[in-house]
Amino acid sequence: MEKLDIKSLYLDELEIKLLELKEAKFRGKQLFDWIHNKKVRSYDAMKNIPKDLRTKLSEQKPLMVVEKANAFHDDRDGTIKYLFKLHDGEIIETVLMKYKYGYSVCISSQVGCKMGCTFCASTIGGLKRQLMASEMLDQIYAIEVDQDISIHSVVVMGTGEPFDNYDQLIRFIRLISDEKGRHLSRRSITVSTCGIVENIIKLSIDAPQVNLAISLHSPYQDERKRVMPIAGKYPLEQLIEACKKYTETTNRRITFEYSMIHSVNDSLQNAEDLGKLLSGVLCHVNLIPVNPVDERDYTPTGLDRIKAFKNVLEKHHIPTTIRRSLGQSIDAACGQLRNRYTKNNN
Ligand code: SAH
Repeated sequence: MEKLDIKSLYLDELEIKLLELKEAKFRGKQLFDWIHNKKVRSYDAMKNIPKDLRTKLSEQKPLMVVEKANAFHDDRDGTIKYLFKLHDGEIIETVLMKYKYGYSVCISSQVGCKMGCTFCASTIGGLKRQLMASEMLDQIYAIEVDQDISIHSVVVMGTGEPFDNYDQLIRFIRLISDEKGRHLSRRSITVSTCGIVENIIKLSIDAPQVNLAISLHSPYQDERKRVMPIAGKYPLEQLIEACKKYTETTNRRITFEYSMIHSVNDSLQNAEDLGKLLSGVLCHVNLIPVNPVDERDYTPTGLDRIKAFKNVLEKHHIPTTIRRSLGQSIDAACGQLRNRYTKNNN
């Protein structure tokens, strides 16, 4: 029988499970509180739960679904990159970043990724498996306990394509924002997608308060498809149409991410056409110098060109920022650490 994954359950589901186990329903609230508020890492720490129930539960999936395997500190900016081990031995990475307003955590949504973006290290070994909601949640809980902090925001921008794991993503969002649990504001959560159109529309219904980021990387269908093969399935025109619908439904501003790759997508003509493409869309553009990845030969655009690119967008009245790159000295960028770990340990 499939083992019970208690950290992925909503409170009402947990109560039903307890009744099935011939336990009292009120234990559900107690357990939910231990898991999501007190964030204990073992059943033994649950003092008001009878020993026999704790024993019964410890025969199920471990409460600690992600276990710290290693952590790398970038002393220059306070970034910490965690490698977590999952119950089946898979490794995922999670990044803790320190900003003026508080701590932000960048979590993974899958083990590996099948989207195949040509500049991204996470996709090199393909998709290994989906992450459960519990494994997304526990990346955050494990870091909060490890550092004794309360994080301010979450970005689902680590390894994986969250919209390729939509149901567990929504479960994760509902659990972490549950007012009886961790109660993180949905406005403090950002989900980043390569552009899976139907789930952009779904998100506007299921969780309209969450921030949406779209990885765009080019204003041209052909060029975009060369760097992001998924554009073959979801053409640019459909993507922009879905974004417009999304902003109409939610009245929320979309962030477009644009990784700047030297001589690939960084001409001023690109900027001009990007400006035209996005005119009239409630949005903001984030320019990111591409992080060089071992297996790829891309180099980042220089800062002068990035600034010129930004000026062109601003002439089109598109708010634009240049993303500060955190944690570079520890390979905190985009799946590189997991790759190196996996290479060295196989
Ligand atoms: N699959 C989702 C989320 C994970 S990638 C998505 O595509 O949005 C998170 C962001 O990092 C994306 O904008 C992605 O394009 C960007 N990214 C990936 N590899 C990068 C690299 N080497 N340099 C700069 N940005 C990168």
